[in-house]
Amino acid sequence: MFRKTRGAILCPSCGRLTNADAPVCLVCGRRNPGMWGFAGPLRRVFRTLDFTNVVTVVCVALYIVSLVFEPRAALRPRGMLGVFSPSLEALFTLGAAGAVPWRLGYWWTLLTAIYLHGGLLHILFNVLWIRQLGPAVQEVYGPARLVVIFTVAGAAGFVASNTLGVPFTIGASGSIFGLLGAIVAYGRKRGGVYGRMVLRQYGQWAVLLFVLGFFMAGVNNWAHAGGFVGGFLAGLVLSLAERRAETALDWLLAAASIALTVLGFALALWTAFV
Ligand SMILES: [Zn+2]
Repeated sequence: MFRKTRGAILCPSCGRLTNADAPVCLVCGRRNPGMWGFAGPLRRVFRTLDFTNVVTVVCVALYIVSLVFEPRAALRPRGMLGVFSPSLEALFTLGAAGAVPWRLGYWWTLLTAIYLHGGLLHILFNVLWIRQLGPAVQEVYGPARLVVIFTVAGAAGFVASNTLGVPFTIGASGSIFGLLGAIVAYGRKRGGVYGRMVLRQYGQWAVLLFVLGFFMAGVNNWAHAGGFVGGFLAGLVLSLAERRAETALDWLLAAASIALTVLGFALALWTAFV
């Protein structure tokens, strides 16, 4: 059974044992702790969710789709960084961000562009970084909060670069800088010797990667800065896993992030083909 409407459950606010059919949680007083039977299943979904793997699969799948979209453009040699680059038209159709789509009112590109990549090295670098940092953020914040941090940071990065006039842009690097920002926020919040060590270590990585961006062609440095700020602020606002278990609010924010992203891709295809 997917829903659980009777018997003992863990309250989605305080995490203590309560009754699925109780009008209020017996411990913290939260109303409707059973959430119409969905509290338990939601908790299970977000506890077992491996968002790092989901992002990896979605990025690789969309990269392949963008190449297949116009194979001749993908195979045209354009230097080392242009190996297996999808055409601009393919990326625009799938939801690339930038000042141009922004002026057309394509708000969803703030989310869809996170999962699009412009070449083999671009996606390789980004997926390796996501697979490095995603599990770390999940460990200290929790799986649902990782979804929120990743999404908010990516969107914040594109808001920054759209505002500053970058015409077209794609890639998960804003979100990656956001993961770094969230870990720096964790170090700051945790404090002590360990917290300071984490803050220094990941702060140095962020600075190093940011500076590196200026030495490579075609890198959207504003998205890196915006993503870092977005992830840092999200990290400050969200609770740490060790201080407060994820609650219904975290699940709701994560579910909304995923739903808006899926809706974004639907809208991108809709505007392109209808
Ligand atoms: Zn409770």
